[in-house]
Amino acid sequence: MLQLFMPLNFLGFVYREIRRALTDLENMLGLLKRAPVIADEPDAPPLQLQQARVEFRDVAFAYQAERPILNGLSFTIEPGQRVAIVGSSGAGKSTLARLLYRFYDLQSGQILLDGVDIRTVTLDSLRRNIAIVPQDTVLFNQSIRANIAYGRPDATDADIDAVIDAAHLRDFISQLPQGDATLVGERGLKVSGGEKQRIAIARALLKRSPLLIFDEATSALDSHSEQAVMAAIRAASREHTALVIAHRLSTVVDCDRILVLEQGQLVESGSHAELLAQQGRYAALWALQQHEEDVTLD
Ligand code: ATP
Repeated sequence: MLQLFMPLNFLGFVYREIRRALTDLENMLGLLKRAPVIADEPDAPPLQLQQARVEFRDVAFAYQAERPILNGLSFTIEPGQRVAIVGSSGAGKSTLARLLYRFYDLQSGQILLDGVDIRTVTLDSLRRNIAIVPQDTVLFNQSIRANIAYGRPDATDADIDAVIDAAHLRDFISQLPQGDATLVGERGLKVSGGEKQRIAIARALLKRSPLLIFDEATSALDSHSEQAVMAAIRAASREHTALVIAHRLSTVVDCDRILVLEQGQLVESGSHAELLAQQGRYAALWALQQHEEDVTLD
């Protein structure tokens, strides 16, 4: 009986897994079908960012009408500032980056860059003015240099060397047998999470966009890699306006300002020291993450 039960039980498990996978696929296809079409307005002019001042004005957004994600969200990032967005998982942090890049349009409110509503300019020009360092960077089975150059195909050797330095990749590259000609990706060198993020930063910098968005990777980096990535972000944002979507707080400590997002609304704003002194939501998140890190280290 037991001999029969085990395979039958296993078959039942496989059946349930397949059904769940099909439901997930169905949901995804449903979302794709419903995704709104983003198109240029007739005669939309190109965006010409001078200063890269970012303003979210009373922004409301939902992926599905019945589930609001952002509710009357307002904040400003002044030109040249490095501002972090933090908040618990699912608060809507990465959604902000998607809205700035106009993957979706708002239900109400406005996103303004240098005072211009992003819906009134061409999508192409908007996206040229913004460089995103995504959570998951795709590396191709090519040399490190080619992977960076992908950010701007017409870049000169000097341009690429400059971003390798700015993204703090020089030491890493100089240790490789073939330097920046070393192949990376599945069939080449396996790079760590931190190195991959720095390659992504170099790639984004090569785009020379006035506005940089870092959607920080969720996977925990060891403290050495994290320091290297932070140094790269600091250097990269020296000449740009930068928005850091932070899933871990250790990367935001030295940002000019930190915005705390909860349930689609801004609940606190200030520097790391100011927010700790307020002993509110940020201070609680900080204490929680310090505790988690201590437990992990133990
Ligand atoms: P985390 O720190 O875990 O990455 P987050 O603050 O960046 O979270 P978002 O990715 O912005 O959160 O997601 C906000 C909410 O929107 C979540 O509840 C998420 O499940 C939901 N969401 C995200 N993308 C979609 C989508 N394409 N369709 C429907 N819901 C989505």
